[in-house]
Amino acid sequence: MKKILGHILLLLFCCVPQVTASPRAFVTIPPQKYFVDHISGGQIPVSIMVLPGASPHTYEPKPKQMAQLAAASLYFTIGDSFDLIWMERIQAINPKMTIVRTEANITKIPITDHHETHAHHLEPESLSEHDHHGVEHSLLDPHIWLDPNLVKIQAQHICTGLMMADPQNVQQYQQNLEKFEQQLTALDQEIQDTLAVIPAEKRSFLVFHPSWGYFAKAYGLQQQAVEVQGKEPSPRELSQIIAQAQALDTKVIFVQPQFSQKSAEVIAQQIGATTVHLDPLAEDWANNLRHAAQALVQALQ
Ligand code: ZN
Repeated sequence: MKKILGHILLLLFCCVPQVTASPRAFVTIPPQKYFVDHISGGQIPVSIMVLPGASPHTYEPKPKQMAQLAAASLYFTIGDSFDLIWMERIQAINPKMTIVRTEANITKIPITDHHETHAHHLEPESLSEHDHHGVEHSLLDPHIWLDPNLVKIQAQHICTGLMMADPQNVQQYQQNLEKFEQQLTALDQEIQDTLAVIPAEKRSFLVFHPSWGYFAKAYGLQQQAVEVQGKEPSPRELSQIIAQAQALDTKVIFVQPQFSQKSAEVIAQQIGATTVHLDPLAEDWANNLRHAAQALVQALQ
């Protein structure tokens, strides 16, 4: 009996430190893995909740991910609708896990809607319907990870979370944060320089899902969206969008892989434009922003 107890104690002794030793982190979307990796120096395993190709506005965790969550020590939220819908249940699965809200202290802007003139026609009921996407998009723009200056705020929260979970490496995380902030400053300047060639009268672009509102605001561009309140436009709305796109001499409609491209293609055919992919959720975040800036230059110059 004593021997068995001894084994049990030994087992406990061996296992407990392994669970608490190095932090394991979860993030909601792929770009956040890029941010955490830069601040941790790649030292911490990071799992992505919303898998590539899926939309954070409609995603549901896989059973396997629920099991992985039980072993995680940190969750970095982004404040998108996935977090709003799931975070309470996620915390219940693993009450010891620290939830770090990287969207804290970021002032959100209203979501860009193509039909701003229609906003006042909306009945209150249509703002509180069960369509999560519609709810989110009638409120504030969640796509805060596409402006390097807002990523600086998110990075500071990530650094604080890592330092709390792993106090032994505080210095390393602070150094990595400083380096990352310098990279963000340089990237911001690079994007400004790339976009500087677009003339003032051509700085409006058309995109299916309005993911690029913060990017547009940061770089003096105007985003127009095909989606209306998070939904495909009605035939009447579609013809309004087509008229406006023709008036603006739109040559390109940007689409992203997580959403249907049907109405974007209809508009493109009608006005003789092409559809071009811009992915706001790519994990190779910095290169993806460079690519987006170049695609905009090509489309608008
Ligand atoms: Zn979105």
